[in-house]
Amino acid sequence: MAHPIYLDNQAATRVDPRVLDAMLPWLTELYGNAASRSHSYGLTAAAAVNIARGQVADLIGANPDEIVFTSGATESVNLAIKGAVEAAYQRSGGGSLHVVTAATEHRAVLDSCKRLEQAGISVTILPVDKKGRVSVKGLAAALQPDTVLASIMWANNEIGTIAPVAEIAALCNEQGVLFHSDATQAVGVLPVDVNEVPVDLLSFSAHKMYGPPGAGALYVRHRTPPIQIAAQIDGGGHERGLRSGSLNVPGIVGFGKAAEICIAERAADAWRIGEMRNALVAGLREALPGITENGDLTRRVPHNASITFPGMQADRVMRAMPGLAVSSGAACSSAQPGPSHVLRAIGLAAADASATIRFSPGRFTTDEDIAAAIRIIADTIRTQSHVEQQDAHEGTRSYSHS
Ligand SMILES: *Cc1c(COP(=O)(O)O)cnc(C)c1O
Repeated sequence: MAHPIYLDNQAATRVDPRVLDAMLPWLTELYGNAASRSHSYGLTAAAAVNIARGQVADLIGANPDEIVFTSGATESVNLAIKGAVEAAYQRSGGGSLHVVTAATEHRAVLDSCKRLEQAGISVTILPVDKKGRVSVKGLAAALQPDTVLASIMWANNEIGTIAPVAEIAALCNEQGVLFHSDATQAVGVLPVDVNEVPVDLLSFSAHKMYGPPGAGALYVRHRTPPIQIAAQIDGGGHERGLRSGSLNVPGIVGFGKAAEICIAERAADAWRIGEMRNALVAGLREALPGITENGDLTRRVPHNASITFPGMQADRVMRAMPGLAVSSGAACSSAQPGPSHVLRAIGLAAADASATIRFSPGRFTTDEDIAAAIRIIADTIRTQSHVEQQDAHEGTRSYSHS
């Protein structure tokens, strides 16, 4: 069978062939440890890491020494949230501390906050509106004298909604609260620039931007007084003591190359991918008039369409489409059964949340893929809706040919 059409780029992206080419020498003849200073293998690896650090920094307008390499966005988020709060806890001598986040965050953020809560930190989880937007006013009202950190994602991984990060950053700066943003779905797709949006901490990941899995970054703004972060992995003191462990040189080199490509091609890619997303949605709407689209349709990332097929069961629909690789919500939550917390947070009923599929085109998606995907989805939904109707002995909805 031919490879399934891949529309799950918000879960993982294909490694760009140019990235793989850049990585290969570091997996073969150039295998030195970047911390080995006594021979050319180590020094060459350290030089390659330096170049990559510059490329990754350039992508977000940062200085190279503001980039901490990690194993991915999950680790970056854990380091940012737990590290900032732990450092604040030490400074406060054990006083009360408060953190604010939002209901539609990735589990890496929500579960890091839950861990803090178990340790006695108070956590406010802001609601979002129907489009998945947090209210800046609501955030302002939630801030307390003991609030140390707000963590609000730049763009959502299930519904694509872009947060008002500039306003949030301005508010947090004014109130002396650290602002961390999980920008895993934004970096490489949107023009993320830490000079324009003064975030303090920013998490992102190579494998969501056509780099390899296993490489990520945490941006830590240089400022006075310096941002204090307590390391969460102790050891040899790599990454200025913030993240010990021998560096993943091939992964970091690939991350750097992926960043360089995004700098050159991001805008054109985003436009083309957005056009394909729009074509997909238009084709599905024409074939299946009953569908609805989730998220903020005027402020969302181009590589996302979250579509509800009322009356259907997304799991069954997806099983019936082996030729199409899509997902219902976040891959990272697949271990957790039950409808997506993001879809519930925007007010979808459980049945509608379970009837929702995420479509995510990317750099390697073609117009032919989109045309084929529309046919596959429309055929599957029509067939399944008959099955569902027979199951229920009476159909309340019809996806018959229109
Ligand atoms: C994928 C993703 C993560 C986790 O990234 P990893 O690099 O896989 O750990 C975190 N946040 C968001 C918004 C994501 O999309």
